[in-house]
Amino acid sequence: MSYVGPDFEPPQPRRPRRGPMTVTLAALVTGALAGWLVWQAVGDPGGPAGTAASSSISPTSPSSGPAASAASRTPSASGTGGENRRSPSPSGPAGRSGPSSAGGAASGPLKGKVVVVDPGHNPGNFQHAAAIKRKVNIGTNSKECDTTGTSTNAGYTEARFTLDVARRLRTLLQQEGATVKFTQDGDRPWGPCVDERARIGNDAHADAVVSIHADGSAAGNRGFHVILPASVHSGAADTRPITARSRDLGERIAGNFVRATGSAPSNYIGGGTGLDVRSDLGGLNLSTVPKVFIECGNMRDSKDAALLTSGAWREKAARGISEGIVGFLRG
Ligand code: ZN
Repeated sequence: MSYVGPDFEPPQPRRPRRGPMTVTLAALVTGALAGWLVWQAVGDPGGPAGTAASSSISPTSPSSGPAASAASRTPSASGTGGENRRSPSPSGPAGRSGPSSAGGAASGPLKGKVVVVDPGHNPGNFQHAAAIKRKVNIGTNSKECDTTGTSTNAGYTEARFTLDVARRLRTLLQQEGATVKFTQDGDRPWGPCVDERARIGNDAHADAVVSIHADGSAAGNRGFHVILPASVHSGAADTRPITARSRDLGERIAGNFVRATGSAPSNYIGGGTGLDVRSDLGGLNLSTVPKVFIECGNMRDSKDAALLTSGAWREKAARGISEGIVGFLRG
């Protein structure tokens, strides 16, 4: 989610809804820049300066077909098919376990490439409130170690969602030959903190890192957005070397996510581009390798929640993210 916690701020005060913006997906994909210009004209005085840097989604290979129309979207019925209910081990090490990893396939187009997948939050965070409230240095300032994340109104948690999508994504990337590492796999009691999440990607010398989330915004706010690192140089944070590559990664993920899921870019962040730029996220500020976040949808909107709770939809989401990463890594 992105409205509270170490990596997030309330979106409403600084990102007021810009009214009923109805844009077809085809227009968004083929004319996202036009949409952006419209949004620019409308203005966003309350928005962060970085958001204005958002530009068009770049639908890129491997999928290059026309985008599905938003009108043709068919939300899947709610369900828990394929849901992995694994819980963190209560007897695990006290939050200091190393990153989970799984080896890549012996061959494939991504052989030799390392992808770090960061499932946002941790199902165990709910039971470790004090530990995740600890402040950590994110370069620009201090923030809480981690948060619990959000949930649907029916109680399906963001932490379960992110782990499920991450595991599906791992399978897809391994099929392409990538070596995939996780920041956590439900195998530690809580966390890791946002600074450690960044460090895991850095230490792995990852070729790409994606942090998976779902938002917790107001009902009626719908769609996904990819968060790109702003150019930050403060304290331990220096994103200047990774901003361009991260934008490339993020645009490819956004474009492929549209195609794979049929979901529209966010109608409340990014002006219809599906992209946002932020300087307040420790997980991005401290990264030295290309990295983006994706908010796959809004758990607090009933229509988005119907998608997010569908195993079939989560498979599509993982495929869209995977195809974006593959396109990025294959150039
Ligand atoms: Zn989140």
